[in-house]
Amino acid sequence: MPQYNGMLRSKLPNVGTTIFTVMSALANEYNAINLSQGFPNFECSPELVSLINEYMKKGYNQYAPMQGIMPLREAIAEKMQELYGAKYDPEKEINITAGGTEAIYAAITAVVNEGDEVIVIEPAYDCYVPAIELSGGIPVYVQLKAPNYTIDWNEVKKKVSHRTRLIMINTPHNPTGSVMTEKDMAELDKITKGTDILILSDEVYEHIIFDGLKHQSVCRFPRLAERSFIVFSFGKTYHATGWKMGYVLAPEKLMTEFRRVHQFIVFTVNTPFQYALADYMKNKSEYLELGKFYQQKRDYFINLIKGSKFKFVPASGSYFQLLDYSKITLAKDTDYAIRLTKEAGVASVPTSVFYHDQIDNKFLRFCFAKTDETLEKAAEKLCKVK
Ligand code: GLN
Repeated sequence: MPQYNGMLRSKLPNVGTTIFTVMSALANEYNAINLSQGFPNFECSPELVSLINEYMKKGYNQYAPMQGIMPLREAIAEKMQELYGAKYDPEKEINITAGGTEAIYAAITAVVNEGDEVIVIEPAYDCYVPAIELSGGIPVYVQLKAPNYTIDWNEVKKKVSHRTRLIMINTPHNPTGSVMTEKDMAELDKITKGTDILILSDEVYEHIIFDGLKHQSVCRFPRLAERSFIVFSFGKTYHATGWKMGYVLAPEKLMTEFRRVHQFIVFTVNTPFQYALADYMKNKSEYLELGKFYQQKRDYFINLIKGSKFKFVPASGSYFQLLDYSKITLAKDTDYAIRLTKEAGVASVPTSVFYHDQIDNKFLRFCFAKTDETLEKAAEKLCKVK
């Protein structure tokens, strides 16, 4: 192919290929056990797959409404009411999206203008900052405090200015597995009360929370909910990340802006999956039992690696476990993740990629959304690392 040699000004000059793609490719190349990218290696429900098939066969194959189909929005409204006591109008305040990432991108694009500041809590999931920058926004960073990765609200308060448009939060948190408490929500309320600051709350791991902790969705707190976009994921909840299905909740005024953008990104999300999910959501135990299911996996994995040289604080939520490798080597985490993949045969994600200035705490992130057999094999390899 002849190459274009005209002027090109990159809109994201500092961005390479996302770490999840890089590490999964490396795992495949070296035939390593892939605990890097976050996705289950077991099947989603066959009943859900049959429902999708049925809807396809019945001819539900044309565009769904831009907002998503009503029965699915109604099922979501019911769930929000039951779990969090929050009232969302399915007509005006709920929208189905192409996964959490599209929801985050559309929400940021809808409200962040040139020069607006957005508070980003680090380590931060890698799609946040590019979306802010593509809108001309300025990320303002606050770091979570190790070892429990809690939010220092004084620090947040110091970083808030008259230009702050949005504060982004994520609970349960990727990559640290920490969860926000009721007290965190009260602090967030103190900071935002009486201001125009909006909140984007990434809650895609809402059901994956352990040890009796309760998910503190911002929608439980009316004063926070009225200024928040909340992002959720069907992929995480139903073991089907490849479907790229999610949804966003926001009060009407915010949702109107969200829809202006969403309609020109994807217009709408595929139809048969939406009908199938609307039916399948009636099966409430599926999401109510998810925390228990993943807690067993977390415990299985951490028990198996207890004898290894890796140190850890058990994750409180999400399907990620951080492991501290500082007793093994002080090598850079990006280098060590590659070495561990090639030499020990286990792929993980280095956590420095979640910081704008690549802070290296000697932690790697491991995804335990895997079969027990895979976790056993990975742990056996990790235990041999000296
Ligand atoms: N959310 C998943 C993770 O954190 C993967 C997302 C992706 O591959 N883009 O690993």
